Amino acid sequence: MNESLDIYVSRCINCGFCDAVCPTLEAADFRGYFGARGRVNLAKELIKNDIGEEEVLDSFNSCLHCNACLYVCPAGISAGEISEKLKLRSSKKDPLAKFIAENIMKYKDPLNIGKGSTLWSKGLKFNEQSEYLFYTARMYQLMPYNSAVAKMREKLGEGLLKKFSPTFSKLGFKGSLLKIFLEREKVEEFNNILLNIYKVLAESGVELRYLGEEEPYSGAMLLEFGFEKEFTSYANWLVNFFKSKNIKKIVTIDPHTYTLLKYQIKDYVNFPFEVIFYLDLVNKKANFSGTVTIHQACHLERYGEKYRKYYDILSDVRIINPIHFNERTFCCGGPDEVLFPNLTNKISEKRFIELKSTEADYIITMCPICYINLKKDEKVIDISQFIAKF
Ligand code: SF4
Ligand code: SF4
Repeated sequence: MNESLDIYVSRCINCGFCDAVCPTLEAADFRGYFGARGRVNLAKELIKNDIGEEEVLDSFNSCLHCNACLYVCPAGISAGEISEKLKLRSSKKDPLAKFIAENIMKYKDPLNIGKGSTLWSKGLKFNEQSEYLFYTARMYQLMPYNSAVAKMREKLGEGLLKKFSPTFSKLGFKGSLLKIFLEREKVEEFNNILLNIYKVLAESGVELRYLGEEEPYSGAMLLEFGFEKEFTSYANWLVNFFKSKNIKKIVTIDPHTYTLLKYQIKDYVNFPFEVIFYLDLVNKKANFSGTVTIHQACHLERYGEKYRKYYDILSDVRIINPIHFNERTFCCGGPDEVLFPNLTNKISEKRFIELKSTEADYIITMCPICYINLKKDEKVIDISQFIAKF
């Protein structure tokens, strides 16, 4: 957005095209403020008058930042960007979001999972001298813990979880406290994906450096939850941390970390490192005689560039496109998982049914958040698992 927010929103002609593609609108039973046009109109009102903060927060907090609205808007407006700006401006934060933000600032990890972030790497060889830093940002590792939080929420109820979040923060939270809700098979499943990513890079002749337990989270959720001051300070810390380790090239393995470090972070700090998505380093072509459908991640399709290297890797495989593909891809609903799990469930179910209806042999994902939300049967496979297998 290169202009002030009031000028930006005033360009809206209220056509409603954005509502037709906004995943949260239908999931919220067509309550207007949970759709793209509603968010733009609310922003207009907010700029003019004072509106109840609670409603404002839910409307903007529930935006997935999938940017689907931008691609259909005749005025070139992204309700996602508007939501982000208004979240950053609001001083009122959700207690659960606050708890996660405090963990990130304190432990460099949203759920302080400690050694849990390195289990996948046991026994693997890394090269301290390699120019490529393998940067997991703990994303795949965090997914089973996110599911554990969801389970805890089911047991305690939304209200209690939010009520106790400040206490957890005060006492110091550790991911190991989630142990009773943590599914061992899920931990293994995600560690296995990391192992496959490592393997396909090794098979492509790429040696990697890995920071183990020292590796910090990227800070993405601070921005997603509207903690701008904290994100700015975290981003500065991250730059100095990478500099202190003499890092030059950062190999990211999930779309959220990739777009954050490649594009978004530059609005906050000078980020002098080369940022690579790991598929760019893969020189293998998959060899599979069946069919696949691809769930393209919003962050790879609609942030900064249309990232499509996976088409080269899958060029010998028959791809059946779902109804929504390429820049019209449909969000998995994942970014709402922490604050609006009901919306996430409905959106991921809808997308899964669409992908499944292609009747392809495999449904390929390339983001840990998409994977966990769409993994509703054995057909769903992370692209690294697919490349390693075929
Ligand atoms: S598509 Fe664009 S112009 Fe139309 S209602 Fe949405 S924001 Fe406004
Ligand atoms: S970014 Fe996505 S969720 Fe947010 S308003 Fe636009 S289409 Fe809806």
